[in-house]
Amino acid sequence: MTVTRTRILAGNWKMNHGPSQAARFFADFLPLVEPADGRSVVFFPPAVSFAAAREAVQGRPDVRLGVQNVHWEAGGAFTGELSVSMAADAGAELVLVGHSERRHVFGETIDETVRKTVAVLEGGLDPVLCVGETIDERRADRAEAVVVEQLGPVLAAVPVEHLARLVIAYEPVWAIGTGVTATPADAAAMHAAVRRTLEEVYGAGAAGQVPVLYGGSVKPENAAELMSQPGVDGVLVGGASLDPAGFAAIVRAA
Ligand code: PGA
Repeated sequence: MTVTRTRILAGNWKMNHGPSQAARFFADFLPLVEPADGRSVVFFPPAVSFAAAREAVQGRPDVRLGVQNVHWEAGGAFTGELSVSMAADAGAELVLVGHSERRHVFGETIDETVRKTVAVLEGGLDPVLCVGETIDERRADRAEAVVVEQLGPVLAAVPVEHLARLVIAYEPVWAIGTGVTATPADAAAMHAAVRRTLEEVYGAGAAGQVPVLYGGSVKPENAAELMSQPGVDGVLVGGASLDPAGFAAIVRAA
């Protein structure tokens, strides 16, 4: 059975584009991209730019917004953090969880990604769980094992009734921000491993709902080929999502 999943084109701005740049970005980007069936465009602006982004995308239901990180606690003395309910109140529909920079720069553990994913789902938002191996892990032939280790505890905590809101992004750490992209064949193999893991936990039918995105040096020049691979349901784009014309070209490649 072939399942048709909505294509997701997501831009992770990381620590780039303050409020005025965000407004300028959307003024340039939105006229370049028509709403289209079967395609969803998502941006993860920095929290301080969220309100400007939200105002800019009013009237464009094809463009959704998310935050780059949350804490699993509902509120309180957690300086510098955002809760899920605050993100929802601001208009966020999605949350990045376990991005490689959170894991490798800020020391986020697998256990923390579990708590965050559960909190996001319970708070009614959609988690985009990022998984991926480092170059040393790939050289040691552990790429699939690492991704399965990162996925397993999260999936064990996500009941099947929440599955329709889970998104996975496979992002090899060695491809993020480096200009080196996984070959389309490597991406397809890793996406197949992610899909198998989902199927082992939930069965093929339920697992088929979960979109699996590729991330890591996606550019206008390679987006179409990556998205033509079986099992690649869209892309999570860092650097190339900062440029309106470049990201519009990636969206149009879907
Ligand atoms: P990149 O980042 O496109 O700049 O490699 C991808 C990501 O971190 O999501």
